[in-house]
Amino acid sequence: MKTITKPDAMFKAVMAVKTKGKSVGFVPTMGALHEGHLSLIRRARKDNDIVVVSIFVNPAQFAPGEDLKKYPRPVSKDIALCRKAGVDFIFYPLPKDIYPQGFKTYVSVDDLSQVLCGRTRPGHFRGVATVVAKLLNVTQPDILYLGQKDAQQAIIIKRMAEDLNFPVKVRVMSTVREKNGLALSSRNAYLNKKEKEDALVLFKSLNLALLLIKGGLRDAGRLIKRVRELISKKKSAKIDYIAIVNAETLEPLNKIRGNCLIALAVRIGKTRLIDNVLLKV
Ligand code: AMP
Repeated sequence: MKTITKPDAMFKAVMAVKTKGKSVGFVPTMGALHEGHLSLIRRARKDNDIVVVSIFVNPAQFAPGEDLKKYPRPVSKDIALCRKAGVDFIFYPLPKDIYPQGFKTYVSVDDLSQVLCGRTRPGHFRGVATVVAKLLNVTQPDILYLGQKDAQQAIIIKRMAEDLNFPVKVRVMSTVREKNGLALSSRNAYLNKKEKEDALVLFKSLNLALLLIKGGLRDAGRLIKRVRELISKKKSAKIDYIAIVNAETLEPLNKIRGNCLIALAVRIGKTRLIDNVLLKV
């Protein structure tokens, strides 16, 4: 396994293997790797000749006042996990390698970026789309691996790849959870023991939603109300949004029908957590 920090060196390394006809799978991450990331890496390992993982805490996707500085960066542990998972290249650039002085070009995916998480995190998805576009150019993958945990991000990146003719397939892998249902996230490290228990309310509320839909409820407003009531029982929980939207366009649904995404963002104490479930009604 090789760790590369400079974009041009990374590009040369992948081009050298691609010209030999080898396929490249790419997993972009912000590090603090857990089983969620590893499920993407393992799938990439299975599907491709060469696996590239990027570790980059992308400043452009953090708004002022967010957790850019305190975001966990256990780099040597991450490198060890990548080695164990059979990764070929780690791309580990510094912010100045990605955003050199004079940087002016950003990628905006309209509409999809302004809803759900985009409302409380203005500029977030512009930062995400921009860095992923750059990483795709640098790593030239055949397949890009993303997690369903960040459903809106996956939808936006798929849209961007199609709109900008990136010659890449996007594969979205299911959310990996703890046994108790809590979706794995690098940000779970911020939670204390009590908050970690309270955080289970995200998974429980998604399950309640599924149960109600199974029981015949189709009115999105009523469903959201029931979910809101359940989450509000937790004192430490502050709801950012609960939404039922079309799973491709992210447009809100009044009647629950077709391919739906139930998505929520909830603050547990100071930590903002997201979770979602996809369903076909
Ligand atoms: P991050 O390091 O949080 O930017 O995540 C890097 C990639 O891992 C993204 O495509 C995420 O959606 C994915 N990911 C994060 N957590 C999980 C999880 N619990 N299950 C599956 N994929 C995940």
